[in-house]
Amino acid sequence: MKVCKFGGTSVATADQIRKVVDIVTSDSDRKIVVVSAPGKRFSDDIKVTDLLIQLGEKALSHENAESELMEVVDRYRAIAEDLGLDGAIVEKIELDLRERLARDKEDKLLFMDTMKAAGEDNNAKLIAEYFKFIGVNAQYVSPREGGLLVNDRPERVRALPEGDERLATLRDRQGIIVFPGFFGYTEDGTLRTFNRGGSDITGSIIAAAVEADLYENFTDVDSVFAANPTVIENPVAIKKMTYREMRELAYAGFSVFHDEALIPAFRKSIPVCIKNTNNPNAPGTLIVKERDYNEQQVIGIAADSGFTAIYVDKYLMNLEIGFGRRLLQILEEEEIPFEHTPSGIDNLSIIIRSRFLSKEKEERIVERIHKELEPDAVIVEHDYSMIVLVGEGMQYTTGLAARAATAIARSGTNIEMINQGSSEVSLVFGVKVQDETKSLKELYNEFFVKSYVKS
Ligand code: ASP
Repeated sequence: MKVCKFGGTSVATADQIRKVVDIVTSDSDRKIVVVSAPGKRFSDDIKVTDLLIQLGEKALSHENAESELMEVVDRYRAIAEDLGLDGAIVEKIELDLRERLARDKEDKLLFMDTMKAAGEDNNAKLIAEYFKFIGVNAQYVSPREGGLLVNDRPERVRALPEGDERLATLRDRQGIIVFPGFFGYTEDGTLRTFNRGGSDITGSIIAAAVEADLYENFTDVDSVFAANPTVIENPVAIKKMTYREMRELAYAGFSVFHDEALIPAFRKSIPVCIKNTNNPNAPGTLIVKERDYNEQQVIGIAADSGFTAIYVDKYLMNLEIGFGRRLLQILEEEEIPFEHTPSGIDNLSIIIRSRFLSKEKEERIVERIHKELEPDAVIVEHDYSMIVLVGEGMQYTTGLAARAATAIARSGTNIEMINQGSSEVSLVFGVKVQDETKSLKELYNEFFVKSYVKS
């Protein structure tokens, strides 16, 4: 049995939904279908989720939101009409949106979650309706009824394993199940959404709970590529990689699959296949527990900008018990997660995502470090990029780090930081943001272009 998830562009228009239906009905193993909200129909289009956010914000500021509401309704109307469905489903969707808009707004986060979830919820209802319309036995199942249980931490929504038993029974239902992605319910019935792109997570949770043979994640590219195709022309397609490799790549900017979505599938060893709705016969990228790393030591190279380094220096830091803990505690108290902590004998840098650091927070942190840790120096540097070389073969290959560092040097880039985790699945290079693209290109040439002549 297979669980298939279709992303926003795969369900953005009637034509796309027809492709989805063809894909699902062409394989009787495809029993559970998780859908996103309608995404972009063309490059500068607006996703329905973003329209819903605008609508929710308007309503929160007590402004008239009628035109925003109609924009959302019209998106569904266009799809329904083009699919030949009667007006009843559109009326139902409009009613649902009006009912959500009328809800209590005191808890702003909850109100916004309720609005955002409307995108996938109504799309799932519409798509289930279309399956039935063409004579396929299908039903919409809501996350509440299906048992997608989440914790009650609105800022960090996670699925709870307590829901798995109920979710597992989806397996026994007749016909095709159409399940909305992106949200679940707490024990007390409060709706919560995952973070953006979270329908991937829903699919993975369900695939794990029903112990599917395969979790197929349909998107709009043929496969995951070894490097970002907007930077590298025609990058190599990745045929097979491990969960750990995908996690590392997703962390550093490979947005094709949500990084949090791997965990449920990984725990139950459910293989994940990334496929293209527009070209379903292409084999896609398979993500599994193990692969033969002799074939390809490095599987991909990712790069992501928007990092800040806080560098702290203190003579004899190595002998000062508790220094690291107290430094990290300051960040914990400011609710800032950290990414890397490269260190020397007398110095320690903490690399964080700049988006977590406001001007005030930064000033407060620096002040606290000075006061509480009495260092010799604290320097905050912005505009870092992290380039991540990923591959299971890395831990068994001699000289790989040297090759990577030499390639970066060839591009004329100064390496600001190197970090290799103990798992040795990735090697991270911190560079200044202006050096990111040229370093990435040179690394790609080094590891993926056999005919490349090094200058
Ligand atoms: N619709 C949501 C978003 O745009 C979730 C998803 O598509 O996975 O982020």
